[in-house]
Amino acid sequence: MEQLRQIAEIYGTPVLVMDLNVIKQNYMNLVNNIRNCKVYYAVKANSHVEIVKLLRDLGSHFDVASRGEIEKLLSLGVEPYRMSFGNTIKKLEDIKFAYDHGIRMFAVDSEMELEKIAMVAPGSDIYVRISTNGMEDDADWPLTRKFGTSVSHAIELVKYAKTLGLNPIGLSFHVGSQNYNPENWRTAIREASVVFEEAKEFGINLSMINTGGGMPVKYVRDIPTVKQIAKVINEAVEEYLGDNITVIVEPGRSMVGNAGIMITKVILRSKKGEENWLYLDAGVFHGLTETIQNIRYRITVDGKEDEELDTFVLAGPTCDSVDVMYYDAQLPKSTTLGDIVYFHTAGAYTTEYGTNFNGIDSPKIVFVNGILSDEEYEVKIPEIVEVESENSED
Ligand SMILES: *Cc1c(COP(=O)(O)O)cnc(C)c1O
Repeated sequence: MEQLRQIAEIYGTPVLVMDLNVIKQNYMNLVNNIRNCKVYYAVKANSHVEIVKLLRDLGSHFDVASRGEIEKLLSLGVEPYRMSFGNTIKKLEDIKFAYDHGIRMFAVDSEMELEKIAMVAPGSDIYVRISTNGMEDDADWPLTRKFGTSVSHAIELVKYAKTLGLNPIGLSFHVGSQNYNPENWRTAIREASVVFEEAKEFGINLSMINTGGGMPVKYVRDIPTVKQIAKVINEAVEEYLGDNITVIVEPGRSMVGNAGIMITKVILRSKKGEENWLYLDAGVFHGLTETIQNIRYRITVDGKEDEELDTFVLAGPTCDSVDVMYYDAQLPKSTTLGDIVYFHTAGAYTTEYGTNFNGIDSPKIVFVNGILSDEEYEVKIPEIVEVESENSED
């Protein structure tokens, strides 16, 4: 932890330390384990230019959701054929912008979205997002209600796409982010196969399955490995869809989550009745947003790793009562002013959510190479490759 402590001292807190080496390992791990696999990194998880550049150079593709993300990638030299416009809720102007810049791959889950694409992106490839039932409980961050549609509706959309002059290429799904159960991927691929078969009867040959994101990272609960999930995907594709199928994966959390550690500091400790309150210099509005749903970070306090624990209310620094991360955090008893608090596995969906609420800066990002290891945050020789706070630049 010495290097992390040094980074906190030099750059101030809050700061997110990201290890590019871990991201590279995560990328290779997917490519090496899933057959016929194309990785489309879900840019929203962490869109920092250093991460985009690394994945660009590794040959990754990208799942983008808006004109802003597309512009950023284009400016970094990512070719349009490496992008999929995977948001099912796109502004008409953004679809046109994407098409005019060469993007030809779009996700849909409704008639109107198909009509919008046919209008301003004629002839494009489309894929239909299905939502599959019974998976909500296995994911810490479910996505099935807002997104996707039923299998029977998906069949209608595939046919409708054809009549609009679009080119339906496949289906997508998302089992929910931070999903703990590999069998959910099998179920979804089996359900998708119904659409593949029906489409064939109408002379439409689908050849792509987009398995979305959802692969978990290790916060507190045990997780299945990428190898285990890949095995299920490989088996299910072979059993239900056959050989000549392109398998797209869209990792967000699992690409960058374990590559980051958030360093924060205690700025106040107080007692309210029986409750011990600890306030940090980052909270719900400054990168630790996912604490308000089901994400439980592993949290440690520098130098107090062996101390007995107590229950704390853990809150952020802003003047908003929503800015409370956990009402039942277990932290070392003596944690107090000035202590450094680490949020482990915090590389995904943290800085992206950071606001400037109350005039308080969101965490800076410091990139290192080889400080953090995949499993444990063992400290090796640090090499700081870049320091940048995108927020203050933009
Ligand atoms: C957010 C998102 C992902 C990434 O999901 P993770 O669970 O973070 O891996 C993938 N695909 C789409 C369409 C998304 O919106």
